[in-house]
Amino acid sequence: MAVWDDLVGQERVQEQLAAAARDADALVTAVAEGEQGPDASKMTHAWLFTGPPGSGRATAARAFAAALQCVSPDRALGGIPGCGFCDGCHTALIGTHADVQVIRTDLLSIGVKETRDLVRRAQLSPAVGRWQVIIMEDADRLTEGAGNVLLKAVEEPAPRTVWLLCAPSLEDVLPTIRSRCRHLTLRTPPVAAVADVLIRRDGIEPERAQAAARATQGHIDRARRLATDERARTRRATVLKLPLRVDDVGACLKAAQELIDAAAEDSKQASEETDVKETEDLKAALGAGQGGRMPRGTAGAMKELEEKQKRRKTRTQRDSLDLALSDLTGFYRDVLALQLGSEIAIANGDVRDALDRVAQGSTPERTLRRIEAVVACRGALEANVAPLLAVEAMTMALRAG
Ligand SMILES: [Zn+2]
Repeated sequence: MAVWDDLVGQERVQEQLAAAARDADALVTAVAEGEQGPDASKMTHAWLFTGPPGSGRATAARAFAAALQCVSPDRALGGIPGCGFCDGCHTALIGTHADVQVIRTDLLSIGVKETRDLVRRAQLSPAVGRWQVIIMEDADRLTEGAGNVLLKAVEEPAPRTVWLLCAPSLEDVLPTIRSRCRHLTLRTPPVAAVADVLIRRDGIEPERAQAAARATQGHIDRARRLATDERARTRRATVLKLPLRVDDVGACLKAAQELIDAAAEDSKQASEETDVKETEDLKAALGAGQGGRMPRGTAGAMKELEEKQKRRKTRTQRDSLDLALSDLTGFYRDVLALQLGSEIAIANGDVRDALDRVAQGSTPERTLRRIEAVVACRGALEANVAPLLAVEAMTMALRAG
């Protein structure tokens, strides 16, 4: 399998990346033989991958990184780098290549200090591979200060360093940075292509794969979770019952509280899995004594970890709420489609009765206002409005009648 196989429905992007990988390969080979590289190269040192959540930005970046590290002998015979089998491709794809670093954050922002460390590393030559590749999956979370630190590295990159930045849209990245990157846009992959990859790669049975792909409207990761995780299915079923429940103020407030509680529970579960071990590890590293007594001068480090864990918890909670809001938007979009007499693209066919009831009990204008209420809630959460307040305002606006 070639490195591009996990990229779903992105033929255009794939062509561009393959062409760049070929030029990059020619460049490295020429330099190794003491020659000038090709004049007009499709290769460049900084790339920006944008596209809606779930379109596969990080997957595209990782595939490109693997193609850049490909050492398959077929390349010399005119084959395109990125065989998927050689040591370079394989280790880059599974995340163990010494010269491919993936920066993924579960925090809300990436700060100056971490970015400085990265930039320092980016000055080095590749240790074993052909390029030193740094993938930043959430370039939209760079603070302004961190962005300025990164800018210098992107402006004057070391000769063999490649930055692959990912973000939802161009507007999410500092203008100074994006103007120095080659920009690639991924599209929302077609539902059929997502279903196909779930069947082919994850071995999910066709009917379930198609239902999950439809319900998540081209979001690959969410589709996979829905198809494989019972908990995710239960969550979605609960959220999709909400539109029929909110018929008076009491019910609205209760539904809002339940959404918040569910998000808190998700975040608690996720943090229990990581926090305890992380804390134990740090204590051991700092030299905790018998009975957990910490040596002098380590309180700051412990406090720093606690802060980080707290920020991560907020992030997980927000992600979980975001998922619920996506499901609700999808529901009302279906309602609108039914009200306008278009059956084709119904995403949530499994709750058809509920869709019909809401569609018959309201007007398209009302449905549009409800969709706006969900969008407004998402905006409020991003602007750090207290979650319960934001969600209550939404459920009140979704009220029946
Ligand atoms: Zn290879």
